[in-house]
Amino acid sequence: MSIDDLYRDVIMDHYKRPRRKGELANANVVIEGFNPLCGDEVKLWLRIDDQGVVQDAAFTGHGCSISQASTSIMTAAAVGASVDDLRGVIDGFRAMMLQGAEPDETLLGDGVALEGVRKFPVRIKCAVLSWNTLQLGLDEHTARGGQVELRHSED
Ligand code: ZN
Repeated sequence: MSIDDLYRDVIMDHYKRPRRKGELANANVVIEGFNPLCGDEVKLWLRIDDQGVVQDAAFTGHGCSISQASTSIMTAAAVGASVDDLRGVIDGFRAMMLQGAEPDETLLGDGVALEGVRKFPVRIKCAVLSWNTLQLGLDEHTARGGQVELRHSED
């Protein structure tokens, strides 16, 4: 099995059996993200505690397989992570997708499977949508604290 096949399997597995799909009743960060180019929509729900650790995370949404698989991967990675660690993961993912940095599986886990999307530049926004949306939510949470509700668009 080639690495491309393996990565495709990881993406389709997250798309067909998304991790942490659903709403989170006691979320304190709720952010919607849109990618008008492809019609992708995601809504992220996070509960971040006073120590800055993501205690729980979930998502709802619809769109192409890349956008939804990427959101599943991202949401699963967020649970149990500190906001500071998560910023490092977001930076690593964006560096891989946007600047061609070497995929770092230790840092990104299943996120490395999206590296192949770079071959289809028009789809890169599908892959980074949820990560950019998460970053905006974390920034707002850090800046203001309390309840955060936001909308983000890729255009
Ligand atoms: Zn898409």
